[in-house]
Amino acid sequence: MSLWSRRKFFLTSLAGSAAAGIANLFERTTPAAAASGLTPSVGNGVRPAAPAAQGKRPLIISSANGVNALGRGMDILKKGGDTLDAVVAAVTIVEDDPNDDSVGYGGLPNEQGEVELDASVMHGPTHRAGSVASVRRIKNVSRLAKTVMERTNHVMIVGDGARRFAVDEGFEEMNLLTEHSRKIWLAWKASTSFNWRPGIDSPEWKDKMSSIFEDTPEDQALLAYAQRVITDPPTGTIPCMAVNEKGDISATTTTSGLAWKIPGRVGDSPIIGAGCYVDNEVGAAGSTGKGEENIKICGGHTIVEMMRKGMSPKDACLEAMARVARNYSNDKKKLATFHIYFYAINKDGQHGAASLWRNGYEPSKRAMYAVHDGTESKLVECAPYLDEIGTSD
Ligand code: ASP
Repeated sequence: MSLWSRRKFFLTSLAGSAAAGIANLFERTTPAAAASGLTPSVGNGVRPAAPAAQGKRPLIISSANGVNALGRGMDILKKGGDTLDAVVAAVTIVEDDPNDDSVGYGGLPNEQGEVELDASVMHGPTHRAGSVASVRRIKNVSRLAKTVMERTNHVMIVGDGARRFAVDEGFEEMNLLTEHSRKIWLAWKASTSFNWRPGIDSPEWKDKMSSIFEDTPEDQALLAYAQRVITDPPTGTIPCMAVNEKGDISATTTTSGLAWKIPGRVGDSPIIGAGCYVDNEVGAAGSTGKGEENIKICGGHTIVEMMRKGMSPKDACLEAMARVARNYSNDKKKLATFHIYFYAINKDGQHGAASLWRNGYEPSKRAMYAVHDGTESKLVECAPYLDEIGTSD
């Protein structure tokens, strides 16, 4: 699923419905909590898990934007290939896709118009990790993170050092800003920068926009999208994790991070233990959405540790979500200002995911993630921590 369509409704989802339903949303426990007797009040560790559903191996999962890419990873798993090769091969398709403006080539840039990418990998069988952050001009940063893991004794390389390391290792340097992303960035710049005024509410705004966007249906749709992402800077990412037939596990997470970020801002995706974590004896976890919230709870590591104690992937994701909510004292108005998702698999080939809100980025659509269990790649609903904004079921 294209992030484009998810984001089209992001603003409406938050702004349009926040006022209507906030008061009704939080009187219930999470489905997993209800099912397992958990209280999602958090932080106090481990409680008995719900009865485990049967898992299936090999298995590969990702955020919803990977639904058309998981097949490549599954092919590698079925041929007996390495789990890290499988997840990196899958996310490379999304990194290469100029139409996904949350990852790799065509990602929305920082405030200076430069695309800056973050990525991490963990390889379960060898207990190794690699990551890169704030990398410019290199498209396939998941492979770059894997290269850090394989060719150095470091775990994390950032900024210009990571770019130079990539060039030394034979990666091609390129401009990552597509025309699509450049136009949206120009519109954002025009709306926010003192030097680039007129602002979005001024009478001159329309004239300014017609100098950037042509009078074609495509460009007008792009302008409408730009106006949404200007007001609410989007995030987006692809985490991907796999377990093979014999139970080895790997994961990667790759992103262009938060649009219009301060240059050098790093989210959760390259942070081992937050945006990506693997323990080959237990499972793997990853995240999308507002990375700052995940970093504060070390989500990836938390989820894997919960699974180690017996929680299902879904309940472990909900437990991490409860910690995020607790950091805002479960204040629904504050929580309604962002989205966050957690995804996990365990060694048995079970999978699960949780979204902070039932409706994800689009008010009319449930939050989903992508799963390939050997037969087909399909979208599956995330377990919501909170009900859809604006409803009271
Ligand atoms: N988590 C990523 C970050 O904060 C962005 C996202 O997943 O949407 O950089």
